[in-house]
Amino acid sequence: MKPILFNFTDSELEKYVVDLGLPKFRSKQIREWLQRGAPDFSVMKNLPEDLRKKLDESAQTLPLKIVKKLESTDKQTTKFLLELNDGEQIECVLMRTTYGNSVCVSSQAGCAMGCKFCASTLLGLKRNLTPNEMFAQVLTAQWELRGDRFEKKSILPNGDPNNNDVSHIVVMGTGEPLRNTENVIGFLERANKDLNISWRRITVSTCGIVPGIKELNEWGRPINLAISLHAPTNELRSTIMPINNMFKLEDVLDAAFEFSETHNRQLMIEYILLGKRNTDGEVELYNCTPEHADQLSKLLHGKNVMVNLIPWNSVDERDFASPSGNAVHRFQDMLIKNGIHTRIRRERGNDIGSACGQLRLNNKK
Ligand code: SAH
Repeated sequence: MKPILFNFTDSELEKYVVDLGLPKFRSKQIREWLQRGAPDFSVMKNLPEDLRKKLDESAQTLPLKIVKKLESTDKQTTKFLLELNDGEQIECVLMRTTYGNSVCVSSQAGCAMGCKFCASTLLGLKRNLTPNEMFAQVLTAQWELRGDRFEKKSILPNGDPNNNDVSHIVVMGTGEPLRNTENVIGFLERANKDLNISWRRITVSTCGIVPGIKELNEWGRPINLAISLHAPTNELRSTIMPINNMFKLEDVLDAAFEFSETHNRQLMIEYILLGKRNTDGEVELYNCTPEHADQLSKLLHGKNVMVNLIPWNSVDERDFASPSGNAVHRFQDMLIKNGIHTRIRRERGNDIGSACGQLRLNNKK
């Protein structure tokens, strides 16, 4: 297997370059390109052509390569199917938004959590990703935005269409980040340091691993925490999220409230709206009846939270249905009436691979 230069320390890279019979300064040039997310050596314009060729034959830049790249019709969302060195595939999404350029990063290849509505977990967990494999996803998005243009960090405001920096990271792709906490922390430390992404622009989403939330709390960085709640009672939550048999809803929320209070951050609650078809083919609300809205409001009452309502993205293998737009708005109205901050998450890039995990899954069929 070709060595991955991105994984080398500075002195290892220097040795590699010197062993090729080259002057040391080449290693600095190569490092700069690696930090910009160069997908191969051919783009490294300040290296002589024969050297670029030689490097392409003998080494690899990043610890992953793009297998497929899909762009939504509105050009705002780019979805990458990426292959790691051992052949495992993961997904990563770049979203150009009104507040900046956000990258959705996968933390594991596959997932062991078994949530009943999700595509990412259908093939089980393959393995944890390394900090470098997570960082390289962000760099892939950065390269997509910037390419080989050598510029300093943009001075344009976030959200300006000409700003080509990654400004936000959400660890919400495939996998459960808090089952890979140490590597996720290593990755985020690096993103903060090397790419200057502030803690407030980083979000980690979890299905509710209580010891992991406590670990994040001890880590002490003021990032945003998102909890995938999806149901207001233990009874209902356990039917769709097996992890609820291990960590009860109240304990998850207690740990999450503690995190958000310690760091003075608003807690994000993710809530997918699920329906089920009855024998007449009509969609019955599964977790979003008025009673559920009341139960959810009681759980969150008086807390600094934002509830993101997510209309379910259909997954062929999963036996759910999406409630009508009216039902979604009724549920939202009830929460608002109860004084709970809520918004409906705009679906991005629905035309390019629907739900999380679908791209990888379809490629394996
Ligand atoms: N394991 C972490 C992060 C990955 S999931 C977590 O559970 O939070 C990221 C978000 O996508 C979660 O809120 C998850 O519940 C949601 N999600 C999964 N499948 C979905 C689907 N089919 N439609 C809409 N959202 C989905």
